[in-house]
Amino acid sequence: MSNPCVKCGKERVDGKSWEGKVGSSVVTYTMTICPDSACQKQVEKEIADRKAKSASLLRAKEEAKLARERLLAAR
Ligand SMILES: [Zn+2]
Repeated sequence: MSNPCVKCGKERVDGKSWEGKVGSSVVTYTMTICPDSACQKQVEKEIADRKAKSASLLRAKEEAKLARERLLAAR
């Protein structure tokens, strides 16, 4: 199964793996990483950035909703 890196196109390799439970069975998850550690760091940074962005977007939405509710309540 081909799983190239999104950034450099190199074939990704198995990184850390861990076990998780799905229902009553144990499954092994394996995280694939880019063999180029500098590239992998970039990919991780982008993922973290994206996560932070969507988290702050969610917070902004939540705050806008609260502000609207407060406005309505003040009427
Ligand atoms: Zn890469």
